[in-house]
Amino acid sequence: MPAEAAQPAAKEPAPSSSTTTTPPPSEVSAKKPAPVTTNTGDQLPKHCPLDKERLGRHTWGLLHTMAAYFPDQPTAEEQSNVRQFFNAFSKVYPCEYCAKDFQQELKTDPPETTSQHSLSQWLCRMHNRVNQKIGKPAFDCSRVNERWRDGPADGSCD
Ligand SMILES: Cc1cc2nc3c(=O)[nH]c(=O)nc-3n(C[C@H](O)[C@H](O)[C@H](O)COP(=O)(O)OP(=O)(O)OC[C@H]3O[C@@H](n4cnc5c(N)ncnc54)[C@H](O)[C@@H]3O)c2cc1C
Repeated sequence: MPAEAAQPAAKEPAPSSSTTTTPPPSEVSAKKPAPVTTNTGDQLPKHCPLDKERLGRHTWGLLHTMAAYFPDQPTAEEQSNVRQFFNAFSKVYPCEYCAKDFQQELKTDPPETTSQHSLSQWLCRMHNRVNQKIGKPAFDCSRVNERWRDGPADGSCD
């Protein structure tokens, strides 16, 4: 189960998704250097549990897609549902320190739920704060619907 699998790995800030596998001493020849296999998140087979990077990537996909299809004129109930969702999400996201930081962000900058535009822009901002924290480039929020709903104008995703 992804949530259980990701939790222990994500309790401490893991510097990257790389894992290094060193064979047991019995397999290591004294003459040859120990063979080392390095996997990054993208290279891991699909059946492997999610590491922090893959979990994050898939989760952002879900969150941005939810925001992309949020109504332009949401009812009070729809707005309340999405606020409750992000509140609960921030408590159960299976990367402990990511979740804690996200809870703090929600306190100072709660979800903007008055329209699809406002929710998508808010989420883009939240994602950019994580990007900044971990040294990734900021995303241009004016392109958020192109990325998560409409696809590029060149039709390459149609
Ligand atoms: C709530 C949350 C908190 C996290 N906190 C941490 C943390 O504290 N430390 C940590 O190491 N990792 C954290 N992560 C994981 C991290 O954000 C990345 O998901 C992970 O490092 C993989 O990065 P990536 O380069 O594949 O792209 P991701 O950041 O996963 O982004 C996926 C795609 O989204 C698009 N995108 C990028 N930025 C934006 C944006 N601002 N708005 C819209 N679309 C965008 C891009 O097309 C990108 O390819 C968190 C994830 C989540 C969901």
